[in-house]
Amino acid sequence: MQFSGRRLKASSNSQAELYGHALQFYGQPPLENIALSEFETFAVERLKLLKTVENVGVSYVKLSEQYTKKLDGECKALNFPYRPEADDRKPQSGPNEYEKRRKDHISHFILRLAYCQTEDLRRWFIQQEVDLFRYRFSDLPPKQKLDFLHRNNLQYDTISVEERKSLLDKLVNSSYAVSGITVEDQDFYKVPFQDALDLVRTRRVYLKAGYAYIPHQDIVTIVLNDFRTRLSKALALTARSLPAVLSDERLQPLLNHLSHAYVGQDYSIQKNVGKISLEQIDSLSGKSFPLCMRQLHQTLRESHHLRHGGRMQYGLFLKGIGLSLEQALQFWRSEFIRGKVDADKFDKAYAYGIRHMFGKEGKRADYTPYSCMKVILSNAPSQGDHHGCPFRHSDPELLKQKLQFYKVSPSGISQILELVKGMHYQLACQKYFELTHNIEEASFSLNHPNQYFIESQRVLGGGKDIKRETDAPQRSQDSAAGRGSGSAREAAANASQGLAEMTEELDSFFQDA
Ligand code: SF4
Repeated sequence: MQFSGRRLKASSNSQAELYGHALQFYGQPPLENIALSEFETFAVERLKLLKTVENVGVSYVKLSEQYTKKLDGECKALNFPYRPEADDRKPQSGPNEYEKRRKDHISHFILRLAYCQTEDLRRWFIQQEVDLFRYRFSDLPPKQKLDFLHRNNLQYDTISVEERKSLLDKLVNSSYAVSGITVEDQDFYKVPFQDALDLVRTRRVYLKAGYAYIPHQDIVTIVLNDFRTRLSKALALTARSLPAVLSDERLQPLLNHLSHAYVGQDYSIQKNVGKISLEQIDSLSGKSFPLCMRQLHQTLRESHHLRHGGRMQYGLFLKGIGLSLEQALQFWRSEFIRGKVDADKFDKAYAYGIRHMFGKEGKRADYTPYSCMKVILSNAPSQGDHHGCPFRHSDPELLKQKLQFYKVSPSGISQILELVKGMHYQLACQKYFELTHNIEEASFSLNHPNQYFIESQRVLGGGKDIKRETDAPQRSQDSAAGRGSGSAREAAANASQGLAEMTEELDSFFQDA
């Protein structure tokens, strides 16, 4: 690959070598300095891409035409490398291609920092990165595949046409999905057998003199295994060095925020505060609340108390759907004093917290309702807690019972449990939405409980008064990603930093006494 003269001078030879192929194994971390604004923009855009990989992966058969088309579109829109030139030695579109590969490289490493922190985060990140890699590797022309393998010291060579012909019967007999006709048309790779143990174990390849002869469509299995193993080890190593990285006070809030972030609207901004009456909440919880909020509401009504995790998750959600501060105080007060908390204790121990949530105390910050990613990936509920995401945190049997209780059909329950099994929690929730709203296919990608509420109101035709959130501006990180101006992105980075600090402060404030 060649870059424009200016770029070549600006980057070292090793840098040019690093970006010499559209696809990377991300073996070497980036060594250059980058601005914080670029750091955040790259991270947010990769997160968007990985979220699309997750959504598309369940909606379509992997590597099907529609799947590939969707990911092509997303890579193109977000300026990540896709559909590499047929001949990599041709001059590429100069800086643009270079910039795309650089962004691919740097953004991957930033998310490694953000997503190495817990096992859940690591699992999610590896899954999406492996799927993204599979899509991109499969899309490479055969010559570039071979080039990629050689660049990464995977010395697998294709066998010659003569050798293929001489081994025709053996290759047909030992490999699934190849026949006498297809053998003629496809490449076979000659790989040391220890690199293809999965295929050897399942007797899917021809073995000769210590080499496995792997059909073209199976080589991806080997490369993916290698990619997954390398990434998993790298994340474990990154986690070990994380304390040093997090000691940088500029990076810590950014990384924490990223690992909790979802990319979407900001549901904290209320334009029609108070349009929902307290009397409506019971019926709305049955019709339009996602399962996480429905179970919190039910618990609150039954036990007249929620622990701090539940109060935070549910309180911010209610604020996001339009409860005013006065309504929130009245709502929580009336429920708590029906339990073990008297009015005096409520005013002393809990009212301050609710005012704080509305930005009327402490830093006077307007707190953001939790996204699905935050609910799913952080602060898992323990014994006695009712917060969290039921699709992620409930035992499957318990989830089944809940769904039965909410009158979801047996076939619907099976579909939901299947999605949960594949760790597609938001898609399971989306399926719950479709089943409880009697629609074939939801027209949105779920990433926020408040989005669920708005979409539900829209479907039920009652969203006129409460659809203000759809007009809300994008959250700071999202707009940062979309805008080109450095100062705007700096502002977004600062806002993000502030948000992370505020959330931490609020979390500690809400601890039960
Ligand atoms: Fe709530 Fe999101 Fe889980 Fe649905 S996927 S239950 S909206 S956290």
